[in-house]
Amino acid sequence: MTSAPDTAPLMLFNSLTRSLEPFQPVHAGEARVYSCGPTVYNYAHLGNMRAYVFADTLGRVLSFKGYKLRHIINITDVGHLTDDADDGEDKLEKAAAERAQSIWDIARHYTEAFWEDVRALNIRQPAEWSIATDYVPKMIEFAKSIADRHCYELPSGLYFDVSTVSDYGSLARAATEAGEGRIEAVEGKRNAQDFAIWRKTPEGETRQMEWDSPWGKGAPGWHLECSVMSEALLGFPFDIHTGGIDHREIHHPNEIAQNQAFACSHGSGARFWMHNNFLIDRTGKMSKSSGEFLRLPLLMAKGIHPLAYRLMCLQAHYRSELEFSWDNLLAALTRLKRLVMAVAALRGQAEMAGTVEHPRLQQLLGDFASAVSDDLNTAKALTVLDDVLAQKKVDAGQRLAAVAAMDAVLGLNLLALERADLRLRPSSATTDEVAIEHRLKLRKEARADKNFAASDALRDELVAAGVEVMDGDPLGWEWRIEV
Ligand code: AMP
Ligand code: ZN
Repeated sequence: MTSAPDTAPLMLFNSLTRSLEPFQPVHAGEARVYSCGPTVYNYAHLGNMRAYVFADTLGRVLSFKGYKLRHIINITDVGHLTDDADDGEDKLEKAAAERAQSIWDIARHYTEAFWEDVRALNIRQPAEWSIATDYVPKMIEFAKSIADRHCYELPSGLYFDVSTVSDYGSLARAATEAGEGRIEAVEGKRNAQDFAIWRKTPEGETRQMEWDSPWGKGAPGWHLECSVMSEALLGFPFDIHTGGIDHREIHHPNEIAQNQAFACSHGSGARFWMHNNFLIDRTGKMSKSSGEFLRLPLLMAKGIHPLAYRLMCLQAHYRSELEFSWDNLLAALTRLKRLVMAVAALRGQAEMAGTVEHPRLQQLLGDFASAVSDDLNTAKALTVLDDVLAQKKVDAGQRLAAVAAMDAVLGLNLLALERADLRLRPSSATTDEVAIEHRLKLRKEARADKNFAASDALRDELVAAGVEVMDGDPLGWEWRIEV
């Protein structure tokens, strides 16, 4: 469809080497990516979703660069403790006990809620969602194969001895200092950073989820899950492993240690380890324990289209912290509206997308490719998209084709979204749109007749119903419902 003059090598920041490196696939023409998925004991908050917008953007860029993508995201439905450093209770067991529900019901409920958020954010479906509990037999096999050389048994489980692999924790930055002082929670651990790969069910207790193993009835450790699923579905070494920056400190160093033990090599299982920085929320609404917390359906209830959040993520670099605020989000919504209106205008002018032949557009496509190839510089890529839309003299069909190519990477659904989809419309609003439009029409007529008393009365009625009338709005919005 397009002839993007894409010559820029794809450079990605590898947390392992702390540097930008050219992406060279392990298997020619393919890109195999594993992303740590959610622990489904509660809803995903907006910060969690940033991790999947990032992984999706990476996947889209790999597809754009011509690689055949195989992306795996797991669902953790067992094994993740309340503390990443191997202390505390299983998050799912705890939630099930508190709510007197079965773990399986809890996991199903939150997995489905997560998938809804994934769809709303236009995150592409991975090749597979790997469910941790489906892989327990494989986890036991994996653990058996490394137990003799790398593990030791304690009454509470099978532990990985981190001194048996070279350079344990070299991925981590904070952990190298914090790890030293980390409290040794389990008596008998040889090193403070040793971690359980199998946790035995304590004597006299029963867990809802437990399996037989050579080390007694119990459940796998969280770190083991990702090693096993990534190896089973992608093979070692695969290309890229992703996760939030918190995983760089404990979870991923532990995965790497297991992978080295399993493969009997110094390789870390994946060539690139990539981490998105955090979404920061200073109001504290992102804490899962804070009753109503900041998650995608809350935005949607306030009438804000979910793709405004995607755009907000893309405006920042994935390795930078991003501060959440409603103002930032509303600004992203306004930007999305402008984009959608500009694309709608192009669609009005051109029957269908053409082929990009115009030299200026080809140059812009090249700039776009360079931006996303530069460690996913989506903020810059968005400004190139603005440039394409500003080329008023260039054929609309060609511009539409360029927009389509760019949106395949950005995932903003620009060719399908309608202007009205982006209207601020809180779900609690009771006024129906037809009634609003009708009153506005009557008001317009009243004003044309210079019947200002009638026009004011109609406006007051709308205001009383929570509708803000937006005369002279630069984006051409005539009304919105107040949030
Ligand atoms: P969890 O369900 O806790 O395992 O987290 C799911 C994903 O979200 C992981 O990749 C985390 O690293 C990531 N994550 C957690 N909190 C944030 C945040 N505030 N901003 C961005 N990513 C986050
Ligand atoms: Zn993981």
